[in-house]
Amino acid sequence: MDFQLCSQCVTDTSDPNIQFDSNGVCNHCIEAKSELVKYRFTEEQEKNNLAKLAHQLRTGTSGKYHAVIGLSGGVDSSYVTHLAKQMDIRPLIVHFDNGWNSDKSVANIKKIISKCSFDLETLVINWPEFKDLQRSFFKAGVIDIEVLTDHAIMATLFKLRKQYRIPYVLSGANFTTEHGMPLAWLWRKQDATNIKSIQQKFGTKPIKEFPMLNSFRFQMIKLFGTGGNYLEPLNQINYSKSKAIKTLQDEYGWEYYGGKHYESVFTKFYQAYVLPIKFGVDKRRPHLSALIRNGEITRDDALYELKKPNYEPLELQLDMDFVLKKLGFSKSEFEQMMQEKPHSHLDYGSDQWIFDLWMKYRTDSLRKILAFIRRK
Ligand SMILES: [Zn+2]
Repeated sequence: MDFQLCSQCVTDTSDPNIQFDSNGVCNHCIEAKSELVKYRFTEEQEKNNLAKLAHQLRTGTSGKYHAVIGLSGGVDSSYVTHLAKQMDIRPLIVHFDNGWNSDKSVANIKKIISKCSFDLETLVINWPEFKDLQRSFFKAGVIDIEVLTDHAIMATLFKLRKQYRIPYVLSGANFTTEHGMPLAWLWRKQDATNIKSIQQKFGTKPIKEFPMLNSFRFQMIKLFGTGGNYLEPLNQINYSKSKAIKTLQDEYGWEYYGGKHYESVFTKFYQAYVLPIKFGVDKRRPHLSALIRNGEITRDDALYELKKPNYEPLELQLDMDFVLKKLGFSKSEFEQMMQEKPHSHLDYGSDQWIFDLWMKYRTDSLRKILAFIRRK
C-alpha cells in the first residue's frame, strides 16, 4: 500500500482521517500553525507565567500540599516536577507502578525525588488483576491497550487529591510536543464501560481493585470542578523536549529512554512492535512531526530517524520474551492474536454516548447557570 506523506511533516495516510491541501500540507500542520503561536513566550513572559502559577498554587490551599503531580519518570512529568521545585511549592508526587517500569525509570524517579525532597507516594497495582485486564485487551484486538494505565492513573490522582484535599493537579500535558496525534489511534481514556465490557468478555477475574471512574462521573467532576483543577505548566513556557531532556540530565543525572513513553517496557513493546505490526501505526510519525513543527528537528532528521528499525532484533527478542512471559501468553497464542483482524473499541460496550451527549450540550451558558447555583 502506498502512503501519501505530508510535504512539511512526516505524518502520512496511515492516519485514516488525514487531509491534505493543494500543496500537500496535512491538516495537523495547518491546525498547528495557528495554535503553536499561543505557546510562544519571551523569557520575561515565561517568568511571569510561572510566578503567577506559583502564587495561584500557594494561595489555593492551607493544606499540606499545593498540588499533586503524577510522575512516570518520562520527560514531561519529570520536567513538571522540576518546575515545581523551581516554583518552590509543595507537591505530593504520585507514582503509579503498573508492574512495567523499566530500571531506568525507577532510577530517574529516585534521582528527581531525592534532589527535590518532595513526598512520594507509590501506588502499586494489583498485578494479577491488571495482568488479566491487559490480556483481555490483547484478546479483544483493540488499538488502545494503554487505556487501562491512563484510566487508572486519572482515577488514582482523583482519589488522592480528594483524600489529601489538594486543589490542583499539575499535569504534564502540553501542546508543543504532543499535538497532532491521529484520533483514530487512540481511545477515550475515561471509557470505564469499555474496560468493563472487554474484561467481562475476555477476562477470567472480576474487577475489584483496579482504580476506576465512569464517564458520567468524570464529566460531573469536570462540570462542578470537584476533580481539582488541572493545570498545565508546560503550556505556560516555551516547552521543548530537547531542552527539557538537557536540563533533566544536567540537574538530576536523569537518563533518556530513547523514545516517547519508553519508560515502561510494556509501552515500548506496544508502540514499537504491536502497533506497527498489527495496526500499521507508527507513533514515531506524529511524535517526530510535532517536534518538526516545534522547530526542534528538521523534516530530514525525522525521515532519517524513521529509516531506523523500530526495534533492534536482539532487543525485540528480549522484550518480546519478557512481555509474553509476564502476561502468560505462549508464542503461538500471541502470534495468532497479532494476525487477527483488529477490532474497534465500539465493537464492545462503551459509554461514548455520554461523551457525545456532553459534547452536544456543553455550552457556556450551562456552565454559567451551574456556577451561579454553586454560589448560592
Ligand atoms: Zn503535516
